[in-house]
Amino acid sequence: MAGYTCVQCLQVLRQGARASAPQSRLLSLTRRRAMPPLIRSFGTQNKPLSPSEAKPKHVHGQSCCAPKATPAQRSVHTETGPSIIRPAMRPTNLFHSFTNSPAQDIRRRAESYQRKPPAHSHFECPDCGIPVYCSEGHWMDDFEAHLEICDTLRQINEDDHDLHSGRFFHEFDYPGPQDDNFVINMSNWDTYLYTREFSAINDDRSMRQVTRMLTYPQTIGSVLHELSPYSVRSNGRLTPEGLKSMSALRYSLHPPKSGESTDMKGLRVKAPPVRIFILGARAESSLPRDVWLQLQYMYPRALLHLIFIGPESMANRDAEFPLPERTPENPFGGIVEDRLGGQMKITTYVDYFHTMNKAQYFGPFDPYLDCFMLFHPGLGHPASSHEWEETLPQLLETKVPILCTGYTQWDMERDIKWVGEKCAGEFDVLLEPGENIFRSLRWDLNDQDPHDISCGNWGLWAFRGKRYEASFVKDE
Ligand SMILES: [Zn+2]
Ligand SMILES: [Zn+2]
Repeated sequence: MAGYTCVQCLQVLRQGARASAPQSRLLSLTRRRAMPPLIRSFGTQNKPLSPSEAKPKHVHGQSCCAPKATPAQRSVHTETGPSIIRPAMRPTNLFHSFTNSPAQDIRRRAESYQRKPPAHSHFECPDCGIPVYCSEGHWMDDFEAHLEICDTLRQINEDDHDLHSGRFFHEFDYPGPQDDNFVINMSNWDTYLYTREFSAINDDRSMRQVTRMLTYPQTIGSVLHELSPYSVRSNGRLTPEGLKSMSALRYSLHPPKSGESTDMKGLRVKAPPVRIFILGARAESSLPRDVWLQLQYMYPRALLHLIFIGPESMANRDAEFPLPERTPENPFGGIVEDRLGGQMKITTYVDYFHTMNKAQYFGPFDPYLDCFMLFHPGLGHPASSHEWEETLPQLLETKVPILCTGYTQWDMERDIKWVGEKCAGEFDVLLEPGENIFRSLRWDLNDQDPHDISCGNWGLWAFRGKRYEASFVKDE
């Protein structure tokens, strides 16, 4: 049933196919996704910029959207006066129907919705401006259900136009390393942004735009950090097994102050980097490096190595092709970024983890130094679960934590069910599933099915292979 846009047409088809099929309420936010999880693109960015690569960009054309803004680019904005705001997309005038959008990118997306079978979706709801019905008649027939998401669709419409408006994106002005004397409060996005000294993000739209990016580093950071909001206290979601695993990682992430200044040489001698394997990586691997550095800045005395792995891990990174040759020293052709300030390194591999792991490329694994992160992996999704079949037992074997997010509650629960079916009794839950405190506050359309709305990292849970050793945590 993938790819049909008009819900009414879809129901007619379903009723034809299965006369007694229960009326599924297709518009619920938690319904199943019709298509495999998407590659998201962040604004119109095509290329990640590491600080060393950042070059000033002209402030015209589609390429001026701020998700890419780096200190170098921002200074261009201030030196040359305010950025050019397209008259059609001022903050008070962001709503445009998709087919008549002043942004070419958005018009193209509208065309792609309109081409979807079986009936071309030519009718745009006047309130949200997104072409999701074949005709006005079908829109009216489905009106009650559409109302449930129409406001959110309109917000998505305006947020998308905002990204194309050319305005100055002050919310993408990221702070530097956390001062040791100030404590990060991770109760919620507001306290986090305030205590990390993000400058003045004072409207909801800016919050939505910036959390859509920061949700990636901050989802990891909020679980691993010693000031994590997830605890074992009553109503906390961290399990006793979770506390054991997190305590081990925190031992490495928060090394005691040595009395000496924390220069890079000293750090290198003291502790190896904590490796965070981001498996099945997609668009998150192309996030601006300023965004990923936010994770490092939460751990001023640790070294981090982010390792993006997966066949789609070079999505939106066209400028970095061709990939390095596979050599005896670099057998999987990893792309290494090591000029990120000295404490963080990023490596990307366009391969499956299970292939590399079978070649003993990453082992041995150490629960004090290693962690896996799966952003909306679609473990239980019919279109992608076969890709995880071989990986899952290998992940459990490592005994290191596996953090996992889902686009919606439904998406997350399907993954949990799949893991439970594949490896019953072989894993411990570390973090009880639930809404992610640091989910994206922005909603997104699934371009394959614009009725399907979700947000980045909505849900969060964690698990790992069962351990039987009696003594695990050595510092307690
Ligand atoms: Zn229709
Ligand atoms: Zn609408």
